[in-house]
Amino acid sequence: ATPTAVMVATGVGATHGILIKGGDALERVQKVKYVLFDKTGTLTQGKAAVTSAKVFNGIDLGQFLTIVASAEASSEHPLARAIVDYAYHFHFFDGLPEAKAGAQNVKGVNSSSWLYDALDFVAFPGKGVQSVINGKKVLVGNRKLMAESGVAVFTQAENYLVELEENAQTGILVALDDSLVGVLGVADRLKREAAVVIEGLKKLDVRPVMVTGDNWRTAKAVAKEVGIHDVRAEVLPAGKADVIHSFQKDGSTVVMVGDGVNDSPALAAADVGMAIGAGTDIAIEAADYVLMRNSLEDVITAIDLSRKTVSRIR
Ligand code: ADP
Ligand code: MG
Repeated sequence: ATPTAVMVATGVGATHGILIKGGDALERVQKVKYVLFDKTGTLTQGKAAVTSAKVFNGIDLGQFLTIVASAEASSEHPLARAIVDYAYHFHFFDGLPEAKAGAQNVKGVNSSSWLYDALDFVAFPGKGVQSVINGKKVLVGNRKLMAESGVAVFTQAENYLVELEENAQTGILVALDDSLVGVLGVADRLKREAAVVIEGLKKLDVRPVMVTGDNWRTAKAVAKEVGIHDVRAEVLPAGKADVIHSFQKDGSTVVMVGDGVNDSPALAAADVGMAIGAGTDIAIEAADYVLMRNSLEDVITAIDLSRKTVSRIR
């Protein structure tokens, strides 16, 4: 494209909150064959909320939630924030969200004084967290995390997990001293425009794909809701770039849309990386496009804009 065409397109993009980092990326977008979407925070709102908590061995629910929140307090993950928020409300208001309005009246509510000290905190990307609380080893995460520590997921827990996952929720397992003690269900709603945008991409002859670190059952349930048929699940953060390369093998142009710190290798590996939303600085840095309005509609706008710009110069 001529410098003028690029300048015009960049200006049009900017009016939609679409930042385009250079003419090369702008030209590559019109050849797109696959758009790969991260799930959490990209297709979904990224506002995860705990929907249920189940304990198995007679441990007090409040005590259980405080331990789990203490273990997650140092994690930046959206799941961790959902858990801490839920436990906090349970702790101060017996879990009643209606009581939220009174939060400012409760002493100590803005401090973390209600949490236990978590020692030796470790985060395992794509798996969960580990620490030591009140002298006990605490694990919070998925099946992979439990399997690596040899924690047995007994039938009752597994059945509950499957039920959550079939309902498009993420089940989070909790173990104390390598014994499973409870499961939390976390839900994250689809962005309102998601299904319409997926439909729109198909009409443009572009194939939508979901890539996620979440488990297969949840991933498939969410994909079905949004109308995506091609799913890659249980992909560790480091593996997302490999997934991109597999789609590029036959020379296809791949756009990756993601929001998280985990997505930056994939954003960099794609022919065009699009960081969506407030994003993390590192995702924005790795991307060729930044979709500032956090709306998936701008993926279609970006493709339209590129196609129009390139056809105008030909
Ligand atoms: P996504 O690709 O959907 O953004 P991630 O790669 O960040 O997902 O995480 C994948 C899975 O790893 C989560 O669905 C969850 O099961 C587990 N996980 C990661 N971090 C945490 C955490 N802090 N607490 C509990 N589970 C976690
Ligand atoms: Mg994400």
